[in-house]
Amino acid sequence: MENCIFCKIARGEVSKDFLYNDDEIMAFKDINPVKPVHVLIVPKRHIPELIAVDDVLLLAKLLQVTQQLISKFEISDKGYRVIINGGGAQEIDHLHIHLMGPMGSRAAL
Ligand code: 5GP
Ligand code: ZN
Repeated sequence: MENCIFCKIARGEVSKDFLYNDDEIMAFKDINPVKPVHVLIVPKRHIPELIAVDDVLLLAKLLQVTQQLISKFEISDKGYRVIINGGGAQEIDHLHIHLMGPMGSRAAL
């Protein structure tokens, strides 16, 4: 999509430091983080939101990358949250997973 910010990032028109990058999926820090770790995991193909996904393998891969980032940022035992907004709750109409942490009772340990 021409004016979609995540499509522009996927096309390389906006520079980003990728935390993960392959042919299908990219991950980068949220520009406005709400936790010390706040990463967006994004398919490069423009899919408006979760309900529009027709490729379960892509969903599995997005979650697999999310797992890898949980390990990379060492928040597996410090509290993390994984969120997908949709149906109008989202700000950006290009599917993405939020990974946030640390949080919860173990965050300060
Ligand atoms: P949503 O409400 O769509 O689930 O969340 C969109 C997220 O994208 C927000 O947390 C916002 O801070 C983030 N965001 C918006 N524009 C950009 C951008 O240009 N770069 C990055 N890295 N994050 C962005
Ligand atoms: Zn897009």
